[in-house]
Amino acid sequence: MKHRNVSLFVPHEGCPHACSFCNQKVISGQSRPLTVNDIRTACETALQSGGYCTEESEIAFFGGSFTAIETEKQILYLQTANEYIGEGKFGSIRISTRPDCINEEILVVLKQYNVRNVELGAQSMSDEVLLANRRGHTAKDTENAVRLLRENGFGVGLQMMTGLYGSTEETDFFTAREFVRLQPDTVRIYPTAVLEHTFLAQLYKNGQYCPQTQEQAVAACSKMLRLFYEHNIRVIRVGLHAGGDVQGNLLAGVFHPAFGELCEGEIYYSEMCNALHNAPEGRYTVYVTPRAFSQAVGQKKNNIIRLAQKGYTCRVAADVNIPKYRVRIVCERTDETEENECI
Ligand code: SF4
Repeated sequence: MKHRNVSLFVPHEGCPHACSFCNQKVISGQSRPLTVNDIRTACETALQSGGYCTEESEIAFFGGSFTAIETEKQILYLQTANEYIGEGKFGSIRISTRPDCINEEILVVLKQYNVRNVELGAQSMSDEVLLANRRGHTAKDTENAVRLLRENGFGVGLQMMTGLYGSTEETDFFTAREFVRLQPDTVRIYPTAVLEHTFLAQLYKNGQYCPQTQEQAVAACSKMLRLFYEHNIRVIRVGLHAGGDVQGNLLAGVFHPAFGELCEGEIYYSEMCNALHNAPEGRYTVYVTPRAFSQAVGQKKNNIIRLAQKGYTCRVAADVNIPKYRVRIVCERTDETEENECI
C-alpha cells in the first residue's frame, strides 16, 4: 500500500521574480491561484483513496515561493492543511520556497502549523550562474537559510539545476559538492528544460544559449546521484515531473519522463564497464541488487546492447548481497570443467 501524500501547487504565487527558466504555469499545469477548497478537496480525496498514513505522510505545497506569499494567505493555506494533520491523517506539511525568503519570524509561523520540511530552490551555488539566470539571490542566502532551518529543527531539502545559462560541468559539480557540504536531508536534481515564454527561450532562439543534451545531462546527473548516495543524502527526484504541459511547451533542453531511470542505468553501465575493464571478450553474468534489475539492463536493454558492442555478452541476475550501485561480474566458462570466475 502507498503512503498518503498530497501535492498542491501554488504557481508563481508570492514570487516577485522572473527566473530565466521559469514558466510555473506550464510546469504545474495550473494557471489559477490555489484556493482553500482545492486544499480541502485534495486532502479529502487522498484520505478516501486508501493507502496508509504514517508520520512520513505529507501535505506538500510546491511551486512559487511559499514564504513570499502575503502572510495572511500563507496562514490561510497552512491553517487549512493543518486541519488534516493528526492521527489517521497526515504527519506534517512540506513547503518549497526561495533561499532568500527564510527568516526567524517566518520559521515561527511555519512551526506553528506543523511544517516539518522546507525545500529551497537553490538551483546553483555559483553566484555568476545565479545572476545570469536572474535568480535574485546568492549562494550565501542558501547557506544562511540552511543554517536557520537546521537551528530551528526543520528538515532541509535542496533543489539544483544542471545546464543553466552560463553554467558548465564544473559549476554544476561545484553546486553538488556544496550541497554535500551543507548536508541536506533530501536533494532534487533538475536538468534544464527550455520552456516557451521564458528568458532562456529568448536566449536559445538568439543563439546565445546552448542547453545540455540529454546525453550530457544523464552523464552529469548520474555522477551526482552517485555522489549524494555516497554521502547518505537522499535524492528524491531527478528530472522534471511528467505532467503539467511541459512537453507541449518544451523548446529545447532535457525532458524525459523516466529521466531518473536513465541516470541510474548509466551508473550501472559505468560500474559494469569498470568491472570489465581489460577483461577478455566473452559471456558474463552481472549480479546486482534485486531492485536494480531493470536499471542494470538499461532502458530498451541499452546497457546490454552497449556491452555486447564491446564484445561482452552479459545477462543480469539478482543477488541480495550486492549493495545498491555495485555489481559483481562472473565470467561464464565455456569449458564446464572449470569453475566460473569472478572478476
Ligand atoms: S523564484 Fe521560483 S516561482 Fe519565482 S520565478 Fe523563480 S523559479 Fe519561478
